[in-house]
Order: sequence, then structure tokens, then C-alpha cells
Amino acid sequence: MPKCTKCQSTSFKMTIENVNGSNIKFRVISCYSCDTVVSFLDFTNNSIAFDDIYDKLAIRRRS
Ligand SMILES: [Zn+2]
Repeated sequence: MPKCTKCQSTSFKMTIENVNGSNIKFRVISCYSCDTVVSFLDFTNNSIAFDDIYDKLAIRRRS
């Protein structure tokens, strides 16, 4: 199970963030507990790479 390098949490979340002053959006994978960014992807990247990271991080959503 991957762990956050900062707080050792094993829960992560995905958010979509804008880069200031541009139309570029990134999908950001960050720690659920402390918001440390683990990885991010250009929004135009193909979904295969994203799904791969998604699987590796075993992202959980708050229910
Ligand atoms: Zn953390």
C-alpha cells in the first residue's frame, strides 16, 4: 500500500486544479490527510496512464 511521504497516510484523493493564468487543468493526486501532492497529470493525458496511477494508489473516496 502506498503511503504519504509526509504523514504516512494510505488514503489519497483526486482533484482537478487550474493553473493560474491559463486554461490548463491538472488532475492532482494528493494525500487525503495532509494535502501533500503525490502526483499530477495533464488533463489531456490519456486515461490509461491515469487509471494505472489510480490503481497503484488505491484511491478511496469518503462515503
Ligand atoms: Zn499525508
